[in-house]
Amino acid sequence: MEMKAAEFDVIVLGAGASGLMCALEAGKRSRSVLIIDHAKQAGLKIRISGGGRCNFTNTNVQPHNYLSQNSHFCKSALSRFTQWDFFNKIKQAEIPFEERSHGQLFGKDSANGIVEMLLSQCRDHGVTFWFGTEISGLEILGERKFTLETSQGNASCESLVVATGGLSYPSIGASALGYDIAQQVGIPVVAPSPALVPFTLSAQEAKRFAPLSGIAVPACVSLGEVSFSENLLFTHRGLSGPVILQISSYWKPGQTIRINMLPGLDLFSHLKIQRGRQPQKMLRSILSEFVPKRLLAIFLYDDLADRKLVDCSDRDFQDASDRIQQWKIIPAGTEGYKKAEATRGGVDCDSISSKTMEALGFPGLFFIGEVLDVTGWLGGYNLQWAWSSGWCAGQYV
Ligand SMILES: Cc1cc2nc3c(=O)[nH]c(=O)nc-3n(C[C@H](O)[C@H](O)[C@H](O)COP(=O)(O)OP(=O)(O)OC[C@H]3O[C@@H](n4cnc5c(N)ncnc54)[C@H](O)[C@@H]3O)c2cc1C
Repeated sequence: MEMKAAEFDVIVLGAGASGLMCALEAGKRSRSVLIIDHAKQAGLKIRISGGGRCNFTNTNVQPHNYLSQNSHFCKSALSRFTQWDFFNKIKQAEIPFEERSHGQLFGKDSANGIVEMLLSQCRDHGVTFWFGTEISGLEILGERKFTLETSQGNASCESLVVATGGLSYPSIGASALGYDIAQQVGIPVVAPSPALVPFTLSAQEAKRFAPLSGIAVPACVSLGEVSFSENLLFTHRGLSGPVILQISSYWKPGQTIRINMLPGLDLFSHLKIQRGRQPQKMLRSILSEFVPKRLLAIFLYDDLADRKLVDCSDRDFQDASDRIQQWKIIPAGTEGYKKAEATRGGVDCDSISSKTMEALGFPGLFFIGEVLDVTGWLGGYNLQWAWSSGWCAGQYV
């Protein structure tokens, strides 16, 4: 690298959620900060998050809402910059917000407002931005001496922060740069895979369930000890909806998921009671009080569905209940990074300080946000991890 490098105290790779937060905090400490991003503008994922409204955090954030090979790693950062700290930033900036179900906090207007808030605060603290900039090389010249080769020229720094995110949504610039940098210095990477992602079904099952495409039902979906209760959506390719996205983060190929499409009701007992009260009613009409008719047409065979309750045995009721409340299915796969809202796996947390986010044994090298092996539930948890980890690193870079 011959060219003279622009010098900064801190260079942040990635102007996403964690990178902006880290740059802002470092700027507040009067560090000279450069953020480099190959995208033309900051925070593209924040801008499309929460359907464009940004589910920026969750009132219920707890460490158990995160998956990682090191389940303790996220605790420190989440307790030092909490959901309430980010909530206060939103209130101070007078960004309108609303609380939806399950403690999810959303902006009322476009998510752009949150990006603009962070950008303008960064600018107020002197942060420099290089957008549309490709990173072609990283040289580590010794402790706290990094030089980057980029399409805008070289830049060097004492603290290098990797905030390049996960692999989901490659269409808006996700890349494996963060994992490559970790591997360049010998830090292990837990194999990444798509998370918070719809399931696909086998061709045969997709055909069977095709008539249900577009139908949503409240459901409880379980995998081993883990279960979630939210809406399930049948799609033309498989299964989606919040409950499926949640369980997908825990799913490994070949595993069976259990689906209860009528949670909160002991259907078997209910049917027995109704047999005494309305013996001439058909099973189909009783069940259609609870589940869509189209769904019954697929899950119950006609002979059973059209039987009068008086003609049904307990075994028939058990069969009908199991089909609706104990549906077992092995997804064929997932829709992949193209449709995933997060990436499971990433830079191994055992190699990172949970207090500073600095790589152990590599003074000056930091990893924050989704590039780390920390994956949150659906509902504002991933952005909160980005804010918390970015804030922590910002105090030390
Ligand atoms: C469709 C969708 C909706 C979502 N909705 C929500 C939600 O409502 N609530 C929630 O909590 N989470 C949501 N998430 C997840 C959340 O957006 C991410 O977890 C979060 O943005 C991660 O922050 P980050 O800073 O680690 O990475 P990012 O925000 O992804 O930022 C990474 C940055 O690095 C840049 N970059 C990557 N590679 C390179 C490279 N090679 N060179 C230069 N720059 C590079 C990218 O351009 C990007 O700007 C959603 C995700 C998706 C895909």
